[in-house]
Amino acid sequence: MDLERLIRDRIRDVADYPKPGVVFKDITPLLADHTAFAGVIDSIVDHHGRGAIDKIVGIEARGFIIAAPVAYHFGAGFVPVRKKGKLPSRTHEETYDLEYGTETIEMHVDAFAPGDRVLIVDDVLATGGTAAAAAELVRRAGGEVAGLSVLIELSFLDGRSKLGNLDVHSLVSV
Ligand code: AMP
Repeated sequence: MDLERLIRDRIRDVADYPKPGVVFKDITPLLADHTAFAGVIDSIVDHHGRGAIDKIVGIEARGFIIAAPVAYHFGAGFVPVRKKGKLPSRTHEETYDLEYGTETIEMHVDAFAPGDRVLIVDDVLATGGTAAAAAELVRRAGGEVAGLSVLIELSFLDGRSKLGNLDVHSLVSV
C-alpha cells in the first residue's frame, strides 16, 4: 500500500464527536502503526529539507506527538504552543474565534533566538484559526514562520485562506 493510502486507511472518522455535526479525525490508529507513523514523520522532514528549520512548534495536544519526532529528525528544537494557563513562564497569548466561543493559546516569550526559522506542526487544519494564531505567536516571539505541516487538511473549511502566503503542507486532504 502506498503511504497516502496507508495514512487514509489509518485515520478513523468518528461522527458527532465531540459534538453533533462534527466528524472527528481520530489519528490513534495511525499512531499505533509504526509504518504509517514513521512515514508521516519522514514525509514532513523530506518536504522541508534537513537544515532548513531551527525550531519545530507543536500545537497542544496531538500536534506535540507529531512535532517532537519531526524536531528530532530535523536536528531542530521543539517549542510547545499550549492552551492558556499551562505554560509556567512568561508568555505571549492569542485569542481566536471558534464556532461557539473563543480559544486562547500561549507560547513562551523566549522560545526563539532572533530570526529562528520555524515550522508549525499540527494534526488537523480545519478553519485555520489555531494555525493562524500560532503563526502570530511565532512572529511576536521573534521567529520567522517557514511553514505549516499538518497530517490532515479539511479542505472544505478553507483554512488556508486565513494563512496568507504561508507554505501549507498537508499529507492528506479531505
Ligand atoms: P481550526 O483552528 O479550526 O483549524 O482547528 C484545528 C485544531 O482543532 C487542531 O488542533 C485540531 O487538532 C482540532 N480539530 C479541528 N477539527 C478537527 C477534526 N474534525 N478532527 C480532529 N481534530 C480537529
